[in-house]
Amino acid sequence: MAKGTIGVTTNNIFPVIKKFLYSDHEIFLRELVSNAVDATQKLKTLALAGEFNGSTDDLKVSVIVDKEAGTLTVRDNGIGMTADEVDRYINQIAFSGAEEFLTKYKDTASSIIGHFGLGFYSAFMVSDKVEIHTLSHVDGAEAVSWSCDGSPEFEMDTMEKSERGTDIVLHIAEDEKEFLEDQRIEALLRKYCRFLPVPVVFGKKKQWKDNRQVETDEDNIINDVEPLWTRKPTDLTDDDYLNFYRAIQPAQDDPLFWIHLNVDYPFTLTGILYFPKIKNNLDIRKDRIQLYCNQVFVTDSVEGVVPEFLTLLQGVIDSPDIPLNVSRSYLQADRNVKMISQHITKKVSDRLREIAKSDPTQFEQKWNDIKIFIEYGMLTDEKFCEQALKFALLENVDGKFFTLDDYKTLVEANQTDKDGNHIYLYATDRDAQYTHIRAAADLGYDVLMMDGQLDVPFTGLLEQKLEKVRFMRVDADVPSNLIRKDENREVDLTTAQRDVVNRLFQSQVPHLDKAEFMVALAALGDQAAPVVMTQSEYMRRMKDMAQYQAGMSFYGEMPDYYSLTLNTDHRLVKLILADAESALQASLEPLDKDIASTQNVVNALRDLNKDTTEVPEDRKKELEENEKRLNDLNEQRSAVITEYASSQERVHQLIDIALLSCGLLRGEALNRFVQRSVDMM
Ligand code: ADP
Repeated sequence: MAKGTIGVTTNNIFPVIKKFLYSDHEIFLRELVSNAVDATQKLKTLALAGEFNGSTDDLKVSVIVDKEAGTLTVRDNGIGMTADEVDRYINQIAFSGAEEFLTKYKDTASSIIGHFGLGFYSAFMVSDKVEIHTLSHVDGAEAVSWSCDGSPEFEMDTMEKSERGTDIVLHIAEDEKEFLEDQRIEALLRKYCRFLPVPVVFGKKKQWKDNRQVETDEDNIINDVEPLWTRKPTDLTDDDYLNFYRAIQPAQDDPLFWIHLNVDYPFTLTGILYFPKIKNNLDIRKDRIQLYCNQVFVTDSVEGVVPEFLTLLQGVIDSPDIPLNVSRSYLQADRNVKMISQHITKKVSDRLREIAKSDPTQFEQKWNDIKIFIEYGMLTDEKFCEQALKFALLENVDGKFFTLDDYKTLVEANQTDKDGNHIYLYATDRDAQYTHIRAAADLGYDVLMMDGQLDVPFTGLLEQKLEKVRFMRVDADVPSNLIRKDENREVDLTTAQRDVVNRLFQSQVPHLDKAEFMVALAALGDQAAPVVMTQSEYMRRMKDMAQYQAGMSFYGEMPDYYSLTLNTDHRLVKLILADAESALQASLEPLDKDIASTQNVVNALRDLNKDTTEVPEDRKKELEENEKRLNDLNEQRSAVITEYASSQERVHQLIDIALLSCGLLRGEALNRFVQRSVDMM
């Protein structure tokens, strides 16, 4: 028997392993099974090279729990090790400065294991003692036993072993007994070993017989040795892809599309990415892409490897070229990883473009489900945006879809304003903005439907990307002003008349929480509506954007500003004005006279004072008195109009109609409106 000290440069590697890998004890199993798989793969390679003549048909890895003995064994019939190899690979840990390295990268220590020859030693995280029983494949080899209780001393000897390969026997420590539970081990194997390329056997398959589970003779194989992503896309059917999806994402609706990634130059990458059907925000999860390294599960946190917006996808990526032994920030700076990430982005956009081109109907049908990915991608990834501009769709209120190019062609002729801007009109709520949508349609305008979660920032993005395109919500202005083609026609009223109409309405608009109304006048033609409620595009967008951007909450707090525009060409507005003029003539005429003469006095006094700095006291006083009188008279005038307006049903009716059109007429006010409408009939 030989005794010796394990060749690590630090005094004792085991406390280090235990300390830094504390939270991730379970990965020892992944490491040992991976080593076992590697050993079988190496044998295959030797056979291919003609250096091994035996059969490689029955290669497998078994995991055996013996609760009574307190051991867990990982067995393979792979290449095995000679005494010399045990000495070289196990006794001399190839890596120097392990402790220093672990200290530096303690956050990612779990991924360091396996990449610096520490994989085997992870067995000590859960064991009091570890044994190796191994018989090399070379002719005439002698079997070797090795054991170590966690101190740097080991024992090594020859032994009797007839089967080729290696057993790693773990004597599970008292506080790690969970690793002797069948269920726990099976769950771990399913997590890490599900797609390993060699059968991994855990006990026998069970069967229900006479109301209880009994073991059958058949091996319970944990893994699918040839997972879908390793196969040729041309050999696979849609059902294969759907079944694979159902296996990795149980309890999900079927995906919309998938992309089979298959690259071997300049890096190796395979995988399948699925576009899930997202029903609501709760469905959006970012941990649904699994990263594998040669079919060994590594992690389901792929940030850094996959561009952010694609983390909404689901599926698997397998690449031996992604460095797993480094921190996330390093990963993001890694050239290879950057290339991989860009490549995935390109593949995704290529595939989408291909579907959009080859099957536009299908693409349109699924557009509303995938547009959240695409808009998110376009907003966050410059490269993807460039690509996606070629296949992104716009949907109009009639449910018709257009590519960006087609849409430009559609609206160019009729929706270009006097400055040459193409105005894309849109609605965010088909019902609430119905009146405006209709009015725009009557003018021959097309209206887009923009009710998606990211549509608001998306319109902003398109304005940057598309030349001379401006988005305008249908209720951002009165219909004829949405797309200003020439100078507006002037309102044909005297200043006094304008003032009367303005005051009639302004005095009667309601005072609501978070909504302010400004009365405006416009000559919109006698066929247009008498009153239109609009909301400035700019202010509304600021408020909308406040939802998405930090530091803009100030806008979110502001009230909504509405403009209540009266159409002075409409007969009702004319009628209201004519009625008011005749009803108020008697009381307004003397007031107006008084106002006019007082105004003259004030003007004259101001003129006198204009050029002197030394205004005499009495003149100052006289001016003040007259200004006050003018103010009082104007207030009286307002009061007269306000009082009159309050009794005018038509005024209230028009205001209510405007409020109704933007969903602001509710409760008692709505009830009054209904009552008044009935009375007026
Ligand atoms: P790594 O696998 O990263 O090289 P390990 O510490 O896990 O580091 O293993 C060190 C070496 O020991 C392996 O490279 C391999 O040569 C050898 N080895 C480990 N397990 C086995 C096994 N089951 N069969 C044959 N050789 C093994």
